[in-house]
Amino acid sequence: MSIALVTTIAELRARTSEKLREVEASGGSKSLGLVPTMGALHHGHATLARRAVAENSVVVASVFVNPLQFGDAQDLARYPRTTDADLALLDEAGVDFMFAPSVEEMYPDGEPSIRVTAGTMGEIHEGASRPGHFDGALTVVSKLLHVALPNEGLAAPGGRPAYRAYFGQKDAQQLTLVRRMVADLNFPVEIVPVSIVRDPDGLATSSRNRFLSEQERTAALVLSRALGLLASRAQAHEPLDIASAEALVRSAPGVELDYLEVVDPQTLAPRAENCQDTPFTGEAIALIAAKVGSVRLIDNMRLG
Ligand code: AMP
Repeated sequence: MSIALVTTIAELRARTSEKLREVEASGGSKSLGLVPTMGALHHGHATLARRAVAENSVVVASVFVNPLQFGDAQDLARYPRTTDADLALLDEAGVDFMFAPSVEEMYPDGEPSIRVTAGTMGEIHEGASRPGHFDGALTVVSKLLHVALPNEGLAAPGGRPAYRAYFGQKDAQQLTLVRRMVADLNFPVEIVPVSIVRDPDGLATSSRNRFLSEQERTAALVLSRALGLLASRAQAHEPLDIASAEALVRSAPGVELDYLEVVDPQTLAPRAENCQDTPFTGEAIALIAAKVGSVRLIDNMRLG
């Protein structure tokens, strides 16, 4: 195994600096890729990791179940933790460091009193169902971006190493908010979006899928089917008829629809025009969230 498991911020900074110096000494171009995750890794995460490895000379994947972004203590307690398997998956992908800090390492003084707030864009869709979720997520992403920020060789002829962080389109609202944060607060990092990875039957891969029974997993396929229905109507410039897609989801046994919204890809504001009854034109994203049994799942698809 060539990956190293690192649990402290000080060690991560020392080890990535050392590795970047080695890259420079061997004549390579220095760049660092960061892949933030909450662990329980699957092939969706592996895709992000492989992309980061292909595009950077040093890659860090973080595995941290961030208490700040869980409203529900039970959900936090039962979130799967699979450190050994995560390490093996990241090693296979070619990642250099798995950064898996303790809660105390990330929040040494307890919950931080200063946080990033996601604003109104964090209060709609997922944010409406999970109040405070995006403030917690952006706060930890902000910390991770600072913790992994490569400083090695700032004064060298090549200047600052390139710095990229990889986020999945699966969490479309999170990706939009992270991009907004990085732009609004001038973080020196490039945010790289990665397409949604699905199982062959269409279910978006998720750490939470392991909680689905066989019947629930079958029922959960209705999420991607409903999105696919909207995408094919959009492709044909037909009216989307969102109500019929909602009805399809509601007809699946044990599936409780939270929301199915067609939104502007940049602002995530619900699309008012050319969406419901008139022929679809332009671009949008359809976002869906539903509970299947006790498991909350989200998915989305580009339209147009
Ligand atoms: P998580 O561990 O669920 O917080 O996810 C960590 C990162 O992996 C986030 O940027 C997610 O959007 C991304 N991710 C999770 N599942 C998928 C998937 N099925 N396809 C693409 N990216 C994903």
